[in-house]
Amino acid sequence: MRVTANALKRLLDCERRLWRTEHARAHAAERTEHDDMLSDRSRALEESIAAAIPDLAGPVQGSGLAFEQAAEETVRLLCETKRAVRRPLLLSADGLRTATPAFILRDGDALVIRDVRLAHRPEARRDNRVRVSFAGRLELVNGLGQVVEVDPESDQELERLSARTLELLGDSPEPDILLSHSHCQHCDHYGPCWDRAEAERRIEVMPAVTRARAEMLHDEGVRTVDELAARTPESFTRRELREAAGALLNEARAFASGAPVWLRDPALPRGRTPVWFDVESDAEGERADVPVYLWGLAVERSEPVFEPILSELTPEGDAQAWRRFVARALEVFRDHPDAVWVHWHHAEPMWIDRYVARLGAPPEFVERMRAPGTLLDLHQRLEKCVRLPLRSTSVKFVAPWLGFQWSNPDADAAWSTAQLHRARETTDAAERERLLAEVTRYNADDLWAMRTVWRWMEGHGGRAQRGADA
Ligand code: SF4
Repeated sequence: MRVTANALKRLLDCERRLWRTEHARAHAAERTEHDDMLSDRSRALEESIAAAIPDLAGPVQGSGLAFEQAAEETVRLLCETKRAVRRPLLLSADGLRTATPAFILRDGDALVIRDVRLAHRPEARRDNRVRVSFAGRLELVNGLGQVVEVDPESDQELERLSARTLELLGDSPEPDILLSHSHCQHCDHYGPCWDRAEAERRIEVMPAVTRARAEMLHDEGVRTVDELAARTPESFTRRELREAAGALLNEARAFASGAPVWLRDPALPRGRTPVWFDVESDAEGERADVPVYLWGLAVERSEPVFEPILSELTPEGDAQAWRRFVARALEVFRDHPDAVWVHWHHAEPMWIDRYVARLGAPPEFVERMRAPGTLLDLHQRLEKCVRLPLRSTSVKFVAPWLGFQWSNPDADAAWSTAQLHRARETTDAAERERLLAEVTRYNADDLWAMRTVWRWMEGHGGRAQRGADA
């Protein structure tokens, strides 16, 4: 049992995650293509940093040496040479703590620990600082290749974290933690944690139950959605819960009954032509050569036709795709002056604004797109009018609940970006076409998923308020 840098990272992320990684590893999700893509990018960044460091020894870890041998070789390189060392294996004197930062550099007689992270502000995260808090000067290289100096954690705090890590790696029970859905959905233990919580009907699976509210509700003797659904606002002793009762009780009633609780008419614009609209963008945002690599749209009709506008993966391809999108949007406005562009969340208007600023657009396009009522955020409208018995109101949860299935059930935004990067890297033209076709198919499914939700909401138009005025 050793306290590794990864164990500390997991501890700070979620104590239960650290426990499960040690005791329930077999139930963890497998690595995804997106994980592999991030590893590749991280390795490439580390390679580029290594190439600029003169007289670099190593890497020690991964050189074929056994664990103890690698630790001894690290000590030898540090004590008997003046060389910088790549992937040293550090081991504390008691053998309980170990780490392999990317580099140890020299600054006169002092050592500089330098680690590499893809994030643009890695120093803002405590786990990144803790992972390099060993000795000497501490540096992080961020995803932009900039070197940032970080303050070490105190020895006392590192002692405390190490002791807690050893407890969790030992025979302590599984922590009874469920973090927020947005945090957990990227965790490799998401399935077991959330499926169990849902089976136990725990209040923590409800989007309206934050961790602070969960603690207050536990204090009031409420642990399940059924117990919460049976409460009234006046029954809460805490003012915060009485104030949040509207959000909590309607959602609890949806969970308890398994049925939607309508709060108001969805008020979708009637008699107008929906244009289903969804973009696929690079996680690097505007720093990427091609921030939006796919503009997907489909004009509503009895059999709507998907119109993907896919960018060549070059800056010129980016500009061409934008121009094609603008031209097509203007055609749609001329053919359907009443068009309402339906999207999910705020990414689409944001990218339109950013591309107008980046590459420009005719005034008619800007005017039409920015006119009130042209763009409609279906997710926002859903949130306003109904409570659902779902752990998330992402379209990836709402549409399947209504019976819609994605052609590729594993596809999501991260998967799509991973396909794009593979397409960019391959020299095999057929493979590139295949990967890009997968990306467009995923985008088409996103549009049809949105259409499914719209039609369902439309079917509830005109309903009187049904939710409890809790
Ligand atoms: S799914 Fe959430 S609660 Fe479970 S281990 Fe992961 S982060 Fe922790």
